[in-house]
Amino acid sequence: MDVRLANPRGFCAGVDRAIEIVERAIERFGSPVYVLHEIVHNKHVLEHLSARGTIFVKSLSEVPEGSVTIYSAHGVSDAVVAEGKERRLRVIDATCPLVTKVHTQAQRYAGDAREVILIGHPGHPEVEGTRGRIAGKVHVLSTPTEVAALQVDDPERLAYVTQTTLSVDDTRDVIDALTARFPLIQGPDLKDICYATQNRQNAVKSMLPEIDVLLVVGSQNSTNSSRTTVWPSGNAAKTSWCRSHLSSRRQPSGMNFFSLSDIVP
Ligand code: SF4
Repeated sequence: MDVRLANPRGFCAGVDRAIEIVERAIERFGSPVYVLHEIVHNKHVLEHLSARGTIFVKSLSEVPEGSVTIYSAHGVSDAVVAEGKERRLRVIDATCPLVTKVHTQAQRYAGDAREVILIGHPGHPEVEGTRGRIAGKVHVLSTPTEVAALQVDDPERLAYVTQTTLSVDDTRDVIDALTARFPLIQGPDLKDICYATQNRQNAVKSMLPEIDVLLVVGSQNSTNSSRTTVWPSGNAAKTSWCRSHLSSRRQPSGMNFFSLSDIVP
């Protein structure tokens, strides 16, 4: 069997950094260390970190006062920051610097009296964190249909930002619909966008004509992993899922490389 590896592949720099922060926090402070939200949507990494003493929580109310608590790469809202202070948590903020950049940009737009359109999936931790950093009106949407139905106060005072784990390809239709309907809308400079997801999608796209099966190593609740499986008709049949985590650096010890039982048709 000839196995070809996509390049680039694996976690983006922001998530890799956040995982390392958790590992270092356990070494330095001992367990338990609390992490708000999944540090990465990857079952094996979560199991590995849990076995070392990490407790993943959905809300700070689950964290005992004064505990070491890490905010994931996705970032958090102002309300969460305030709650962490109130509960006197020992916070380590692993928010990706590029997500912080999106927060700053959105705040700048809101400060300029613009309604902000946040292109992303409602409920995703990054989207909720960014939404909660903006003082003004925010609309969260992810499809051109939602753009057509959007009600705004002033069509000339609008701006958009995007969820970083969506690629340029994922957001292009929505941005095109926004700029067609609201020609004066402002958005980020292309050089300011995170290309981690786009680069991984491009790597897979370039391999498709030459492969029979695309094995996606990841979890199905990961935006990045699931977007890798969405291709023009004819190519979807090539996709299989492998839940195992293959990165040699992060692979939990004693785990088999992967087995056929891990492959989900
Ligand atoms: S901004 Fe890019 S590098 Fe940072 S967490 Fe998001 S996808 Fe990863």
